[in-house]
Amino acid sequence: MLKKLSGWFQRQKRVLPWREALGSDSLTVPANLESKRRSKTPSSGQGSGANGAKLNPPIGAHRHPYRVWLSEMMLQQTQVVTVIPYFHRFLELFPTIEDLASAKEEDVMKAWAGLGYYSRARNLQKGAKHIVSQGKFPQSLEEWLEVPGVGPYTAGAVCSLSLGQYVPLVDGNVERVFSRLFCLSRKTLGEKQYRDEQWRLAKLAISKAEKLGLSAGDVNEGWMELGATVCTTKNPVCGLCPLQKNCTAFREERVTAFPEKKPKPEKIFLEEKVIALLDKKRRKVLLEDSTHRQWRKGLWDFPEALPVEFSTTANGRARKASNVALTESILKSKHVVTNHQISRETRVIFTEKRMIDSKGFAWVSLDHPERPLGAPSRKIIKLILERFF
Ligand code: SF4
Repeated sequence: MLKKLSGWFQRQKRVLPWREALGSDSLTVPANLESKRRSKTPSSGQGSGANGAKLNPPIGAHRHPYRVWLSEMMLQQTQVVTVIPYFHRFLELFPTIEDLASAKEEDVMKAWAGLGYYSRARNLQKGAKHIVSQGKFPQSLEEWLEVPGVGPYTAGAVCSLSLGQYVPLVDGNVERVFSRLFCLSRKTLGEKQYRDEQWRLAKLAISKAEKLGLSAGDVNEGWMELGATVCTTKNPVCGLCPLQKNCTAFREERVTAFPEKKPKPEKIFLEEKVIALLDKKRRKVLLEDSTHRQWRKGLWDFPEALPVEFSTTANGRARKASNVALTESILKSKHVVTNHQISRETRVIFTEKRMIDSKGFAWVSLDHPERPLGAPSRKIIKLILERFF
């Protein structure tokens, strides 16, 4: 089965920017980090890593760990087609891990803005600082697991796809393929045992791959690619599947029964109220650094209350004598983050007085905000442009 999977992957894999080999593009490899990495990888392709882990032949084992790590972080909860332009832009801005480690957090958030799940961007920079402080990229699963924000899946992906180490991984795609191949029932097994079984199978597969002399990267990525392109959630294309003869669900005509759905977490409804102070003439709005908020830390957003210099009353409404006009308008929008359904009400208040930025606040252009913004504030800007211009 593994030979079929690995051969299929080599023939059918999609061309994706993070799958390019080392040295095939403009990514600068820091000399100290790269020379140390190379010294751990024998030119014959056989040998041991820092922790004694076997390194496989060079097929597919020349991807730079920075690129693999970055792509894996971006791909969590996000589709390939969305990630590609962000991946390119991010590497243009931060071509090396040292560039990322020393960048301003605001610039990192700006490069990430729109991808969502912003803790990934903060963790990525924390991780970059950790790696740079060590002077080399981690060389083993254990070392990768010490990098902030890196869990067993990401560590397994970087070690197998970049270092060629025979370590397992399980993501949503792998889980779907395994659950169909072996008719794994989460209802029967219970959630914990179901998870453990997935990892047990992944470990078994990767150790067999090593015995067969297959590339660790091709086998691990083969599972993921099969799940992403053939054994898909809806309408799996079993007719094109290299593992059809090995598949229990196919044989028993129960493909659509797997994977069984997880019980959905309860929906949480939240309401947000923000203010858009709009200088229509100059096409600018007032935004606030939202570092202190529970959500979207590191991004800029519309303020929940105006700064004191704008003389608002206790309930936040604009006073006649102040710098702000009384004309107001309400915009409503909705956003979903995991199981949170957020309804946002934005009170638009118009002003004409020229104002300067104050601490934690900035006037930004509606056309080129030049601040890291999340999807909700982008949506409000779009609504303002549609409604008032
Ligand atoms: S035969 Fe169908 S269900 Fe089974 S692994 Fe292949 S694509 Fe998935």
